[in-house]
Amino acid sequence: MFDNKTGCSVSRLIFCSAHRVVFSRFCSPCDIKELFCTALGLPRNTNVSLLDSTGELFQNVLTQVAEQFSRAFKINELKTEVTNRLAMLEKRVELEGMRVVEIEKCRSDIKKLREEMASRNNRSQNNRKHFSLFLEDNKKLTPRRDVPSTPRPHVSCLEHMYHDLGLVKDFNINPITLKRWLLCIHDNYRNNPFHNFRHCFCVTQMMYSMICLCSLQEKFTQVDILILMTAAVCHDLDHPGYNNTTELAVRYNDISPLENHHCAVAFQISPSPTANILLPTSTPRPSADTPGRAGTITLILATDMARHGEILDSFKQKVDCFDYTDEEHVTCLKMVLIKCCDISNEVRPMEVAEPWVDCLLEEYFMQSDREKAEGLPVAPFMDREKVTKPTAQIGFIKFVLIPMFETVMKLFPQIEEVMVQPLRESRDRYEELKQIDDAMNEVRGFCTNACMSV
Ligand SMILES: [Zn+2]
Repeated sequence: MFDNKTGCSVSRLIFCSAHRVVFSRFCSPCDIKELFCTALGLPRNTNVSLLDSTGELFQNVLTQVAEQFSRAFKINELKTEVTNRLAMLEKRVELEGMRVVEIEKCRSDIKKLREEMASRNNRSQNNRKHFSLFLEDNKKLTPRRDVPSTPRPHVSCLEHMYHDLGLVKDFNINPITLKRWLLCIHDNYRNNPFHNFRHCFCVTQMMYSMICLCSLQEKFTQVDILILMTAAVCHDLDHPGYNNTTELAVRYNDISPLENHHCAVAFQISPSPTANILLPTSTPRPSADTPGRAGTITLILATDMARHGEILDSFKQKVDCFDYTDEEHVTCLKMVLIKCCDISNEVRPMEVAEPWVDCLLEEYFMQSDREKAEGLPVAPFMDREKVTKPTAQIGFIKFVLIPMFETVMKLFPQIEEVMVQPLRESRDRYEELKQIDDAMNEVRGFCTNACMSV
């Protein structure tokens, strides 16, 4: 036992305090006891108690110190929690800020676009810039597959289109639901060379442009506008990247198997009806009377190119005496509009349109290579041995695109400068390229013959 009242222990205590005893943090209570014993010349197993000057055990003091420490630690924990919460709040504010900036940027892009449209009525040379909306970086594109791939700005732009057309307000769509639905749509497009989310974006953006350019909101109901936009967004959902899927052909009895599949995915896209704007929250399952459902299905099925002749012929019969009060007329026009948007890449500036031809050919060649490997017949337009970019495009522009857009032009003359004229220019450009290709082939053939005859 250590008694601080004896002279010896007092002197030892003074000695200790004069030299400031420092213990390592790794010292155990046992070590400390032993050090005390050694310092005081006591046997190591001596029972040591610390008493203050009044003879009270130091224990009370130690307990108080422990309590103080505990309080201090609690304050530190609280501080850490408050700091973490502040950091989280700052992050949220930052994210919200970024979103606001994104939306503002889209708004200013669209404003700029409208101003350009107004000022370019008489300048056909520059008309095609109209379709560079949201794709300012396209100027940097080379004729390869380098179409911008980041989904977020595209999703935000689609979101903005729904807001701008008044669909969110008129159909009381929760903005968060709209965002979640569009992100779901994005995730349900596969990473194909052509039939991917970027294609979905381009088709929808073209639809939005046509709605604005042709003042369709003055002629159509808002339900029609919702159908046009939503069908464009969903029209190629879960496209497998090839068009000869036996599984889907069996499932849909050979009737537009891919397009039926896109429709089915559109309505299955989320198990939660709140994530799908096509389904009102009060309706647990899609039904025929759900606003937009039947119309959306009709439009997605109309994108089957096997039905191109049938749909265009039907429209040609109606266009000269078009009646906006006739539901059949309006439905037919909507079908033609989504068809136009679906195959509208050639309306865009050459530096935007040409990479898409590469993407489409890449997808076709992947299919035809696989078919050749399996010994199956190959469609000539998919065969890498037979197709060149000019041969692929000339026929398509001359016999599919121009006739269809010129028919639509009868109802909307304003599309001539910004859509039909660029198609004519694109046709002329590819015809020139074909002439160059033919001349090159002739020269190559001449050289080969000359070499053989030497
Ligand atoms: Zn498509």
